[in-house]
Amino acid sequence: MKITFLGTGTSQGIPIIGSNHPVCLSNNPKDKRLRVSVLVEWEKYTFVIDCGPDFRQQMLNAKVSRIDGIIFTHEHADHTMGLDDIRPFFFRQGDIPLYAHQRVFKALEKRFDYIFTTENKYPGVPSVTKIEVKNEPFLAGNLNVTPIEGLHYKLQVFGYRFHNFAYLTDMKTVEDSEIEKLQNLDVLVVNALRIKPHMSHFNLEEALEFIKKVKPKRTYLTHISHLLGFHDDVQQKLPENVFLAYDNLQITI
Ligand SMILES: [Zn+2]
Repeated sequence: MKITFLGTGTSQGIPIIGSNHPVCLSNNPKDKRLRVSVLVEWEKYTFVIDCGPDFRQQMLNAKVSRIDGIIFTHEHADHTMGLDDIRPFFFRQGDIPLYAHQRVFKALEKRFDYIFTTENKYPGVPSVTKIEVKNEPFLAGNLNVTPIEGLHYKLQVFGYRFHNFAYLTDMKTVEDSEIEKLQNLDVLVVNALRIKPHMSHFNLEEALEFIKKVKPKRTYLTHISHLLGFHDDVQQKLPENVFLAYDNLQITI
């Protein structure tokens, strides 16, 4: 299985427009972060988790020409607003499968009504196939994917486990019964926003506590704010086998 970090930044990305914060001004490519998303590839299958506002650029960067579907964690703008840019995939492949909680589909249908409408569709508008995700395993390609439920402040969000890899973002609270689904992971990806606590995301300390409970072989941190600090400084202070993800990083599991 190959994982490509398409974006590792929090909702505004790094740099933030107009910001003079030193991390936003950094020349290190590892300090430049598009909105959070990963590409998950195995055998002949290619899935994207979330499609935020940087989706087009991310598909170009990773040279993706075909996708088997987009799996959504939740409906926030930084995870969904690139949906219109499925058009090139739709033109080549036909309807694009979307996997999401029923509530997420409701939000997408409101924002992207022209994609979901069945009547008088404007020429060139893409179409999708909706696959509702509940908190139970579902098939993506030839693999059973297990959702892991958590709370993003009060909003339900899904993380996903693909075999021995799990991707969790925008988590603040995860029940022990959900953490049980994360045993024996080779790689965990989990959100760590910044140093100070935040209402709806794990800060670094909470992410490290979570990692201690899950005990994966390796962990990569994502959904990172400029307030976490410079990539190279933060990386030096992390425990063994915990890494800061950065855009375009690829790992093989
Ligand atoms: Zn987010």
